[in-house]
Amino acid sequence: MLHMNSPSLAPEKPCPICSKPAQENLRPFCSKRCADIDLNRWLSGVYAIPVKESESDDEGDQVRPASNNEE
Ligand SMILES: [Zn+2]
Repeated sequence: MLHMNSPSLAPEKPCPICSKPAQENLRPFCSKRCADIDLNRWLSGVYAIPVKESESDDEGDQVRPASNNEE
């Protein structure tokens, strides 16, 4: 069996992280490290949106039960 690894297969887009030529295996990234960086960015972007927490906090403040207030 022959390993047909033709270098003429140029990537269409460069790595979105460092703009280096992307690897065929790791498209569109040039390395696993860059793919990891992108994944981390994505994850931190998702976790950086505390919409539910903010809403819940605001609502809880409005519907505050004041039955235990004797003053
Ligand atoms: Zn890269």
